[in-house]
Amino acid sequence: MRALAVDLRDRTVLVVGGGAVAERRVRGLLEDGARIRLVSPEVGPGLAELADARRIAWIRRGFRAEDVDGAWLVWAHTDVPAVQAEVSDAAEKRRVFAVIGGDPEASSASTPARAAAGGVQVGVSAGRDPVRARRVAAWIQAQLETGLAPTRPQRPDAAWEAAQRPGTVALVGGGPGDPGLVTVRGRFLLAGADVVVADRLGPVSLLPHLAEHARIIDVGKRAGYHRLSQDRINATLVEQARLGLRVVRLKGGDPFVFGRGGEEEEYCAAHGVPVEVVPGITSAISVPAAAGIPVTHRNLSHGFSVVTAHEDLPVVPHAREHTLVLLMGVRRLPETSRRLIELGHDPRTPVAIIERGWTPEQRTTVGTLETIAELARRRDVHAPAVIVVGDVAAMGASSD
Ligand code: SAH
Repeated sequence: MRALAVDLRDRTVLVVGGGAVAERRVRGLLEDGARIRLVSPEVGPGLAELADARRIAWIRRGFRAEDVDGAWLVWAHTDVPAVQAEVSDAAEKRRVFAVIGGDPEASSASTPARAAAGGVQVGVSAGRDPVRARRVAAWIQAQLETGLAPTRPQRPDAAWEAAQRPGTVALVGGGPGDPGLVTVRGRFLLAGADVVVADRLGPVSLLPHLAEHARIIDVGKRAGYHRLSQDRINATLVEQARLGLRVVRLKGGDPFVFGRGGEEEEYCAAHGVPVEVVPGITSAISVPAAAGIPVTHRNLSHGFSVVTAHEDLPVVPHAREHTLVLLMGVRRLPETSRRLIELGHDPRTPVAIIERGWTPEQRTTVGTLETIAELARRRDVHAPAVIVVGDVAAMGASSD
């Protein structure tokens, strides 16, 4: 068997049968630009409409062998075995390829299950097991859509260009570090990027794999000092886009949660560079989850606040049932925990620190507002880490 792709534009295709399967075939063939001759004594309402609108030619009677004359391809989808056999014979005699629905033996052609994305099409056939073929096709579809398959065009391609236009910036949330936690859209854009401007956080170690062809500009920030100032990052995005490149700005977590994504978006827009924002899974919610801590939980937490610095501490609700999630808070943990107690938080409120969530080095430290600073010191807790304050924090199993 050979797989063959045929161009059906403006070519006559004979379809025999008027039921639901025939209608599905007809619609697909019309999309491919084929001219349809349909033979059937009766048809369903959808096909009748197409005939009324003169989008197909309906011959209202039973099949005759000469219906095949002039067709490039034949499709039989009746539920009468004798008719199916007749179509098969007539097509064979006239040397026209025929797909005989439900009868691979009698068919001289078959249609593979199809996966298609970004201008690439893949056909899958699995002999007499069409369900198997469809499942494989669905799996391939996911690889194409996420950019896991090397779909990047080697020649100009309009469908691909439409995915991210050259000269634009996509602000992509990379999630907390696990490549499975980047959105499908994010992965697709990474696969097609010319340049990736990346932080230290997020799925950075996988970049060579996720964005195989892209140049990677590392603007990773270290806690305490900045390797590249925000101004320089903004300017880099605009410079690269103006070179006519597809720029992906890959950020840890979600671009708009303490990620300065808003500033980057504004800067690009002010300089005439179009920006697409692709949200990501924020560490504020996903890193506690990685340690078994839900930020809200029935009877334990009715809501949560995500904060970073001291200024916000007085204004967040202080009830043990309100979860406080602190980002970038490791260095100041001694002051923060003291301040929260001063502000009236119960000193016995559970606190969990989750370091390097979603990586093999993830580690959880659980204590209370009273004990956590000392515990963190003893265990040499380091950024990046998410700190959770509230009753739910006790659900995080401390690892030692
Ligand atoms: N935009 C990001 C947050 C950027 S601020 C987001 O939505 O997740 C950087 C802080 O995020 C770090 O100091 C740390 O508190 C937290 N963080 C990000 N990724 C993390 C990870 N994998 N493990 C623990 N903390 C993480």
